Amino acid sequence: MILIVDDNQNNIYSLKKLLESKDFPVDTANSGEEALGKALKNNYALIILDVQMPGMDGFEVAETFAGYSKTKEIPIIFLSAVNTEKRFITRGYASGGMDYVTKPVDPEILLLKVKTFYNLQEQSLAMKKTQQSLELEVQGRRESQVTMKSEIDHFHLMLEGLPQIAFTLNGEGIVDFVNGRWYQYSATDKDFPEAHPDDLNIREEFERCRKKGKALELEVRIKNIETGDYRYHLLRMSPVYEGDIVKNWVGTFTDIDDQKKVEKEKDEFLSIASHELKTPLTSIKAYMQLLDRKLKLDKESPEANYVLKVQDQIEKLNVLITDLLDVSKIENGKLKINKKPTNIEKVIDNAIETILQTHEENKVRIQHHAVVPDLLIPFDEIRIEQVLINFLTNAIKYSPENNQVIVTTFADEDEVKVSITDFGIGIPDFKQDAVFRKFYRVEESSLQFQGMGIGLYICSEIIKQHHGTIGLSSIVGEGSTFYFTLPLN
Ligand code: ADP
Repeated sequence: MILIVDDNQNNIYSLKKLLESKDFPVDTANSGEEALGKALKNNYALIILDVQMPGMDGFEVAETFAGYSKTKEIPIIFLSAVNTEKRFITRGYASGGMDYVTKPVDPEILLLKVKTFYNLQEQSLAMKKTQQSLELEVQGRRESQVTMKSEIDHFHLMLEGLPQIAFTLNGEGIVDFVNGRWYQYSATDKDFPEAHPDDLNIREEFERCRKKGKALELEVRIKNIETGDYRYHLLRMSPVYEGDIVKNWVGTFTDIDDQKKVEKEKDEFLSIASHELKTPLTSIKAYMQLLDRKLKLDKESPEANYVLKVQDQIEKLNVLITDLLDVSKIENGKLKINKKPTNIEKVIDNAIETILQTHEENKVRIQHHAVVPDLLIPFDEIRIEQVLINFLTNAIKYSPENNQVIVTTFADEDEVKVSITDFGIGIPDFKQDAVFRKFYRVEESSLQFQGMGIGLYICSEIIKQHHGTIGLSSIVGEGSTFYFTLPLN
């Protein structure tokens, strides 16, 4: 906006009309005092100031403007009819004017001058604004740098206090911080600790995960520099994302050597115990069958019922011990897979038949949607049937309110997928991955349903050995679908 300051209303009127005809926004003041009040309140791009005014004259007004930071930068054009001499003109410039125009005014010249000063002032205002926002940004950045640095220091202090080896890497995978414990296992702060020759290479495993931007979890033996002993550690490395980009990685090595030793002892005990239990159990089973045949009991008699119940319990014991033996076979790498081209749908039918025989009539309803009836694929029939029986038993066991189970197959050019769906209690989201771990049972259901938590572990090992995949989807209260896939070749 342009401010015209003149004590003469006619002058103001004609000048205002002239400027408004060129679309300049205009404000007016009748005296120097009024002009000063307005200039301190509003923002003007230009002031056209009459020199001769009663009270403060134009020069005094300009000098006063120069004393206020808000007004000192506003360009001023003096207008004068009387003081056309050089000394007045000089004083005009000295008091802060940009130009000195004498009356009578040539409207075209005045307009050109106004336009130039107006534009100049607009540009300088815009530049000032940009400079201010830049300064603000720089200041903001400086402040956030300071807070970031103190946050990083705090974070490093926390890592230092951890009972684990802790370290961080930058986005390129270069180690950029290690805590004190690191040096028990590595001589430099750049190289990972040395892994046991029989274990996976830490750098290679990390690079594999880095390419995918996924966290790494690895059990690995690393060498203590002082003692030269290898100790089992759980290595965890997690990416820290900023948007879609991995900014850095945070890693820890947790010493699990003692835990591993206890686990090994426990596995050995289980292996010995299940082997030792298996022999007498097989004898009991055989003698019970002999007894059953010899006694020739009436099927309706209570004694026949007792024999049946004993045989039932022997069978349950047998399944438990066989599962424990399987676990120790897996631990020792002795779970052998015997693959032969086999019809998967037939194996599913057999498994369903076995389940139906061991459950009371009408207690379960199993639907089988056989989609690939003639397909032969290479797998171990006994082991895959074991997986199916496990899935089906669980589907029934964990569905106390609904006896319906659906088995579906699906095949594409690479693999066949078998899914078993129930409408039972379901499994919470965050516990779904864990159900394939050894001895894992979902807490919420472990009291209500009997089990040891090893069935799914064995299943996952069997499927792993077939180079297939295993998984589930589940909604609590609605049911679960467990599936496995087998490669066609
Ligand atoms: P177990 O049934 O002997 O406990 P599993 O290894 O077969 O052992 O299963 C592990 C856990 O997974 C079970 O304890 C149970 O909590 C959960 N689970 C397995 N199958 C189902 C299912 N169909 N519905 C709900 N929970 C299931």
